[in-house]
Amino acid sequence: MGLKISVELTTTPKTKPAIENLSFGKYFTDHMFIMDYDVGAGWHDPRIIPYQPISLDPAAKVFHYGQTVFEGMKAYKTPEGSVLMFRPYKNLQRLNRSNARLSIPSIDEDLVMEALKQLIKVDEDWIPAEQGTSLYIRPFVIATQPTLGVSPSEQYHFIIILSPVGSYYAEGINPVSIYVESEYVRAVTGGVGNAKTGGNYAAGLKAQQEATEKGYSQVLWLDGVHRKYIEEVGSMNVFFKIGGKVITPALNGSILDGVTRDSVIRVLQHWNIEVEEKRISIDELVEAYRKGTLEEAFGTGTAAVISPIGELNWQGDKLTLNDGQTGPISAKVYDFITGMQRGTLEDPFGWILEVDPKI
Ligand SMILES: *Cc1c(COP(=O)(O)O)cnc(C)c1O
Repeated sequence: MGLKISVELTTTPKTKPAIENLSFGKYFTDHMFIMDYDVGAGWHDPRIIPYQPISLDPAAKVFHYGQTVFEGMKAYKTPEGSVLMFRPYKNLQRLNRSNARLSIPSIDEDLVMEALKQLIKVDEDWIPAEQGTSLYIRPFVIATQPTLGVSPSEQYHFIIILSPVGSYYAEGINPVSIYVESEYVRAVTGGVGNAKTGGNYAAGLKAQQEATEKGYSQVLWLDGVHRKYIEEVGSMNVFFKIGGKVITPALNGSILDGVTRDSVIRVLQHWNIEVEEKRISIDELVEAYRKGTLEEAFGTGTAAVISPIGELNWQGDKLTLNDGQTGPISAKVYDFITGMQRGTLEDPFGWILEVDPKI
């Protein structure tokens, strides 16, 4: 890996928030990782420094043309006090796929892994240990070259920040209501829908806002060409159980290749439950609902792991799923994956990486 990571520790550690106040992405730890890129020098000066604001030229390309990517992953503290990560290389590989799509130079995955381990170690006291809590990890890249010409930046920052997050579900897992979006679209094949980049989120805010006003927590996106094939939910991939079979939209270039999505597919297959990745239309879904064969639906993503869907609103029709309750598959997969992540259940896949093996 070659590059040595320098470490500067804070002299003014912050007061840690109370567990009850954590929520999502509100508090940040005492340190951050940063390294810089310049054409010619490549990525250089990897360093852990006290958490602090960054200073950028107002002409920095990221502000104007949105050349940026991010990742989202978690570290968990086990009841015995060791620190675990879940399939972190999957996120680092996806970071580089997003980088490639946004014309951002690739980043050495082993160096990022080393940076992650060292940063988590430095801020280990910030990892909450209560059931359902974790340390959310947000790596991201921004284009910093201060020129307004439309071309890939010649300078970047890669930064990792850490945020202790509370239990996503205060009272156990609870179904959400989802609005099926028919006016706005999120992405098209050939665009950037399969990259984890800010623009996808900026483009989705309006629909999200309108859905929230109608009392829905997120939107279910349909494809941007035919306006009928199911894509994904806000920041989650989506699964349906229809007539005993689990179905999820195939990766078609416009949806994100979720690490949780892949994990759920592999866990279900491990249990000999059939999973089909295919194109599925909203009409097929509504028809299954009318026939009574749409048994269960849930979203998957790092933040919530599994988010059962209790209601879908399609053009004013309210489809209530599994009586608005958490379905059996959602509950079982949630318990299994979160158990592996916290180290309380055996990991038959080799997905868990111990950050600092206790001796
Ligand atoms: C991050 C993200 C997901 C979930 O991916 P995970 O790797 O499971 O966290 C799904 N959809 C979108 C649009 C995302 O940005």
